[in-house]
Formats: sequence, C-alpha cells, structure tokens
Amino acid sequence: MPSQSDCVFCKIVAGTIPSTRVFENDSTLAFLDIGPLAEGHLLVIPRDHYERIADVPSELFGAVASQAPMLGRALLEVTGAEGFNLLVNQGRAAGQVVPHVHFHLIPRKTDDGLGYRWNAGSYPAGRDAEIATALKHAVTKR
Ligand code: 5GP
Ligand code: ZN
Repeated sequence: MPSQSDCVFCKIVAGTIPSTRVFENDSTLAFLDIGPLAEGHLLVIPRDHYERIADVPSELFGAVASQAPMLGRALLEVTGAEGFNLLVNQGRAAGQVVPHVHFHLIPRKTDDGLGYRWNAGSYPAGRDAEIATALKHAVTKR
C-alpha cells in the first residue's frame, strides 16, 4: 500500500503539503509534530501508507523503529530533555487520529506537567494464565 491520496502523512511524504523534516531515508521519514507536546516532538513514519501496525510488514516496521535510538539521542542532545516517550496510538480507541502508522517521540523533563499515569489493574485469580494461554496459541498460529 504505497500511498493514499486523502492521507495527510502521505501528502507530507510526497511533499504536497509542507512539513519540517529532520530525517529521512528509503523507508522512513521523521518530522516535527505540528502540535507539539514539547519542543522537538517528532513523528516517525514509514513512507508507505499503512493504517494498522498489524498490516505493516515486519521488515518495514523494524526499519522505521530502528531509527528510534538515533532520533532519541538527537532529541536528548538538542532539547536537553531527560527522557522521552516513544509511543504509538493504534486505532481510534487508543487515540489514533491520523490513519497512517506513526511513532511519537516526545521529549520529557521531570515536572514538565505533561503527566503520564494510567491506572494499573489486576487479574482475578487464574485469568492471567487464561489470557497467557490464549495469547501463546494466537502467537504460534502466526
Ligand atoms: P495521533 O493522535 O494520530 O497519534 O497523532 C497524530 C499527530 O499528528 C498529532 O500529534 C498531530 O499534531 C499531528 N499532525 C496532524 N496533522 C499534521 C500535519 O499536517 N503536520 C504535522 N507535522 N503533524 C500533524
Ligand atoms: Zn498515508
């Protein structure tokens, strides 16, 4: 799925809408998020259009993800951040707005006010084993 005409990130890849690019190679493009959560907030995307991680060929996913250490080092150096969040919102339920797979790289500083705290749950007795067994079967089918 090389490109989709109504996709904003495909348009950025094609250069038909502007973006502030910071890195690119054959498979991958990294550019500034237009609505940054912190200075230097990057989006890292495959050039090819895939809406769902599940559909991205593993090699391509690996190629895009493999730039995260290098981009993360650059981000820390330039912004003086102490850390970063590397995250993917996958699916509308998880907050995905742009339907072209992308990683967020968000520089973080202690007490930057962005927050990041989800309420952890717990498994009722035996449920963790059930889920793990189902997952093991699902994984080995693939
Ligand atoms: P999502 O919620 O889909 O994970 O995040 C999409 C991100 O894309 C948002 O953080 C938003 O600010 C960013 N974004 C949306 N449209 C554009 C655009 O035209 N250019 C750039 N650089 N970023 C965009
Ligand atoms: Zn796209």
